Amino acid sequence: MSTVYNWHLGRKMKYPYQAAYPKRQFAFVFNINRCIACQTCTMACKSTWTFSKGQEHMWWANVETKPYGGYPQFWDMKILRLLDKANQGKQDWSGRVSDDPKRPYGQFDGKTIFEAERMLTPSSTRVLGYLPTDEEWNFPNIYEDNPVGPPGKRFQYHKTGVKLPEHKTWFFYLARICNHCTYPGCLAACPRKAIYKRPEDGIVLVDQKRCRGYRKCVEACPYKKVMYRGNTRISEKCVACYPRIEGKDPESGGQPMETRCMAACIGQMRLQGLVKMNGDGTWAEDRYNPLYYLVHVAKVALPLYPQFGTEPNGYYIPPRWVPREYLRQMFGPGVDEAIERYAYPDRELLAVLQLFRRSHLIIFRYEVKEGPKIYETTHRGRKLTVYNDTAIAYGQNGKEIFRTTVEEPIYVRPAKHANTI
Ligand code: SF4
Ligand code: SF4
Repeated sequence: MSTVYNWHLGRKMKYPYQAAYPKRQFAFVFNINRCIACQTCTMACKSTWTFSKGQEHMWWANVETKPYGGYPQFWDMKILRLLDKANQGKQDWSGRVSDDPKRPYGQFDGKTIFEAERMLTPSSTRVLGYLPTDEEWNFPNIYEDNPVGPPGKRFQYHKTGVKLPEHKTWFFYLARICNHCTYPGCLAACPRKAIYKRPEDGIVLVDQKRCRGYRKCVEACPYKKVMYRGNTRISEKCVACYPRIEGKDPESGGQPMETRCMAACIGQMRLQGLVKMNGDGTWAEDRYNPLYYLVHVAKVALPLYPQFGTEPNGYYIPPRWVPREYLRQMFGPGVDEAIERYAYPDRELLAVLQLFRRSHLIIFRYEVKEGPKIYETTHRGRKLTVYNDTAIAYGQNGKEIFRTTVEEPIYVRPAKHANTI
């Protein structure tokens, strides 16, 4: 058991393993406002890593419709309920959202999955969790596009002659992969020490030779991103497409490349990178790394369920149309500020948002070159001005990867050929 600093929680925390921090950490930002649930990411992962016998039910990358969908079903509701059982009514935050990178969301005063386990079963030293049932793994996209209307009214509107109700229901798409957590629950729970975090990029892997299939990792991962393979009797999980991160993809020219699920994203909602780490697990200041900017400067991207305590390295720009209480439970206290900033972006944020999915190479630094004013409006009493700035992305070797403008250019093709459609 060690005491570690968890900057998502703004405090120290007990962790049932030794903490070891990588030099750089695999991390990503998903903009929920842009996801269209086309599942291209899901299939890109499936066709790369989990197409073999025994992996039929495995979806290392998945996109679920919230609030009712989930893979495995009810994963977040179940772990939230367990945490509440251990620490009833006290899973609260205090303090204020601030510019302090060591405490950006105030302080979490409740119990994490590492602390709550000992409250439920005092003799245990490991992690609070549960094993999903086979049935819960059966339906990877249950409740897709389903906001669930009033019970008993489905298909009956035409019979009763009632008017359709005002649109008060809501849903959104939550794309998920393993978060390659800084304090992984899966790693801490493994009695075989078969799970490890790579020192060069923080990617969390299961050593297939050491694993004996006890499924302690499946039980302990609060995000349920380790999966058991019945025919080999060992556990498997997302490998963050590490050959691509290492620059081994033949198309990368030796430069670090984003994972398959990121590169395939049709909605252009994914941006992945490698962030520099301090010796205590916090992010080293790197002002012009786009991930550092989105998480620590613009503060539009927030961790998924930070209260679990694993310090996940996946960050989300929350959806604007969803009740705030629900979002605060999912992304912590930074939600209101994040949505406000995203809805009324400043000049730099608007330029950085253009960096998503213009290239498959990992962006290590960006620069913004100012352009002319192209649009001005007032929305809900707030003035919004748009400039046609240019965002320039640089790779690991310091060379420019691409440049793109805020206003999408229009190309008019010469009318050389008759339109055959
Ligand atoms: S998301 Fe789960 S599987 Fe991935 S590193 Fe964290 S605890 Fe482990
Ligand atoms: S490919 Fe992109 S837009 Fe499509 S479901 Fe996946 S995350 Fe959403």
